[in-house]
Amino acid sequence: MVVLSPHSDDAPLSVGGTIPRLGANHKVIVYIIFGLSRFTRFRRFRNRVAVTAYRWTEERMSSLVLGYQVRYFAFPDSSARAADRNGPSNHLPGVRETLLSHLANDRPETILCPLGVGNHPDHVTLARTIVDLMLAGVVKTSTCRFYEDLPYSTFYDTTPSVKSIEKALSMKMGPVLIDVTKTIASKISALKIYKSQLRSSNISRVEDYARTLAEEETKGSPHYHEREWVIAS
Ligand SMILES: [Zn+2]
Repeated sequence: MVVLSPHSDDAPLSVGGTIPRLGANHKVIVYIIFGLSRFTRFRRFRNRVAVTAYRWTEERMSSLVLGYQVRYFAFPDSSARAADRNGPSNHLPGVRETLLSHLANDRPETILCPLGVGNHPDHVTLARTIVDLMLAGVVKTSTCRFYEDLPYSTFYDTTPSVKSIEKALSMKMGPVLIDVTKTIASKISALKIYKSQLRSSNISRVEDYARTLAEEETKGSPHYHEREWVIAS
């Protein structure tokens, strides 16, 4: 499986319970597309080289907790891309070609893609790029599933992003709940690694969201779910 992750931290945030659930005999590769960054939650720490190296290290540590491989691409994220701060761009040179060549090489059975919930330009760009590749017929729609971008899905309604992809593809999508009750602890451990990106309140929101999606408990202990959107066949 390949997980398309706009930034370091997006895969553990959104599908961090799903990845370890697959088990050791499933190879999971996370592509970090916008790996070049100057964004941290510490306002004075803005050096691009230092921030990129720091974030790479966080991702590497998280990958050891959750058991995935990381492939880091050095496309600048919106914080490092001064000229493109006003919105998503379909025309970031190279993203499309790079994705295609790596996917052709890895031949994943499943590609997990961001829905683009919350309108973060990098998330929307990546969602649009994969939709364009599906429309061009070079990526099979049956291979792709869409994940809810967290923590954005705890603040924003997921429906507009689902509808916009359905409209672009002229296809319907349906939700699939993944039970991550057994792996939520690993997910939370991985999220705690991202000191440069996540406050504990963000992590709590993500955990609460997973509990709300599940809405059940066994003998007083809650269940946790993650949600994916799958194209109806
Ligand atoms: Zn992100």
